Amino acid sequence: MNNEHENLSLSRRTFIKAAGASTAVAALAGVASHVMANDSLPFDSEHDIVVCGGGGSGLPAALFARWLGNDVVILEKAASPGGTAAKAAFWYWVPNNTPMRNAGLVDAKPDYMRYVARLTRPQSYDASLPKLGLSDWEYEMCEAIYDSAAPAADLLAERDALTYRHCPDVPDYWAELPEDKAPKGRVLVPKDARESMSDGGRVAIRTLTAAAKRDGVKIRTGERVMKVILNDKGEAIGVEVETEEGARLRVKARKAVIFATGGFTHDPELRRNFLNAPVYGGCAALTNEGDFVRISSELGVQLRNMNYAWSCPILLEKALAKDGSMSGIFTMTGDSMLMVNKYGKRVVNEKTVYNDLVPTFFQWDGNKSEYPNLVMFSIWDQRAQDYCHSDEYGSPIVPKGGNDRHVVRGETLDELAKAIAERLDTHASAIGGMKLAPDFVANLKATLKRFNQMARKGKDLDFARGELAVQKLFTGPVKPGSQGNTTLYPLAEKGPFYAALITGGNLDTKGGPKTNSHGQVLNNDNQPIPGLYGIGNCVASASGRAYWSGGSTLGPIIGFAYRAANQAHTEPSRA
Ligand SMILES: Cc1cc2nc3c(=O)[nH]c(=O)nc-3n(C[C@H](O)[C@H](O)[C@H](O)COP(=O)(O)OP(=O)(O)OC[C@H]3O[C@@H](n4cnc5c(N)ncnc54)[C@H](O)[C@@H]3O)c2cc1C
Repeated sequence: MNNEHENLSLSRRTFIKAAGASTAVAALAGVASHVMANDSLPFDSEHDIVVCGGGGSGLPAALFARWLGNDVVILEKAASPGGTAAKAAFWYWVPNNTPMRNAGLVDAKPDYMRYVARLTRPQSYDASLPKLGLSDWEYEMCEAIYDSAAPAADLLAERDALTYRHCPDVPDYWAELPEDKAPKGRVLVPKDARESMSDGGRVAIRTLTAAAKRDGVKIRTGERVMKVILNDKGEAIGVEVETEEGARLRVKARKAVIFATGGFTHDPELRRNFLNAPVYGGCAALTNEGDFVRISSELGVQLRNMNYAWSCPILLEKALAKDGSMSGIFTMTGDSMLMVNKYGKRVVNEKTVYNDLVPTFFQWDGNKSEYPNLVMFSIWDQRAQDYCHSDEYGSPIVPKGGNDRHVVRGETLDELAKAIAERLDTHASAIGGMKLAPDFVANLKATLKRFNQMARKGKDLDFARGELAVQKLFTGPVKPGSQGNTTLYPLAEKGPFYAALITGGNLDTKGGPKTNSHGQVLNNDNQPIPGLYGIGNCVASASGRAYWSGGSTLGPIIGFAYRAANQAHTEPSRA
């Protein structure tokens, strides 16, 4: 039996690895695969609900399911739980949350729906339509967030699993839009996060994990889920895992399997095939390799929004080095910092909120047949180095003594350009041999002249830098006493000058199998695959291209974890 089991497992594993991308493409094209029983071998262990992945969505889902009385296990691929969420600031965006209501801040559902619809599908948004231009699926998913994120956040707090602090002054990223009738107050952070709110993930994972252990959720680490096991009715009844040591185990789920395995940021093949941009990677947990895209490709699922990611600028060199500690650049620090492309030209408002700054890196020039902005250079002076450094939110300007291997330096602009060119050469094979244009320095000098004229007046006539609330929020530290438009200051005439190589990246991807608003994974006929659930970045987010606000990954995720756990609890026991 053991040999037979082992052989079967190995052949399946080979299938998964070899067939993964092409079957995923077939699923995207709507080619139904047959949902069939995959065997009747014995199980090594058995639970009511099996949660695959112990990060931002898996831990809350496991707790919600456990509190309903279920026997719950988390199977986590990494050596410890946390996933990307452990790196996060862990702001969570919770519309109509309890502290808002207590403070008399009105966040009515129709207004919330208009705000998210306007940002999610701007091309079809129409406030006069019943679904505002969203598809039925998008509308239902967005409603679910409004209905469930607040009770979910409150339950986690009541049970001492994730207590929170309200951030009444944090604005939504598009607070100025007329659709945003509750522009401030939707963000919560873990209660014990530091004042700057940058370390919430560590706090949240610590308290969620402690609550899971306290309340009897089993957590098994170093176990990578490889496959869903179906019975002869096509119902999910368990999973196969591979342990760190290479053993294959079968775990039975009497009621449900909930996938919470994160996105595909660290699978270069999936990235290349699904993202519509040459993304080098990102700062998701290194174990987020799109396993659920590959696993679900045998199940006749519908992949959706595979072309979207929660985007953030990243340091090129950390991405190439696959540095697991890398953060996204939420804060393009420096009032006198400006960013130019290989032609020495400014092409974007550097303080644009991170998700919306990223598309500029991937603009294609059809005349020159190149990505002129694929790698850009943030340039700053000694003043910015002295006053605008930070070791938080991925700031490229780091304090003295910090890890500054990504920084190049020059006493003059010519020297700086030479240092940048040398860095580009060391990465030539990864960046298509990109080089600075011959007139880079001349253009840079002209760019600086104009930038400084505008900065002296505090008004960026080219890109409106610093004119939205969110740009001030994320600009980072400035010299004490700075007045006016504190996102802008003239760059010094004299060196030293500093620069960092920046490209676009992912926090994580946001595409995957389509679920309904209860987290049930849908087949090609839009029917739930019984017993199979997905939440978080391993399944399709209805947000499309939008990043509604800080915390708009984790707030909705907590809401969907709550809904999936409640629905999974009602599944019949398939003993
Ligand atoms: C630097 C940074 C800051 C961020 N700040 C915020 C913020 O403030 N607010 C916000 O809303 N979002 C933030 N995010 C995004 C947020 O962290 C993610 O969207 C969130 O963690 C997603 O939760 P998840 O459960 O889908 O994935 P994860 O939290 O990444 O968890 C997935 C887990 O699944 C495991 N896994 C993968 N494959 C398997 C497998 N086959 N079997 C078993 N386990 C598997 C992984 O090891 C991982 O532990 C930030 C992200 C980064 C990188």
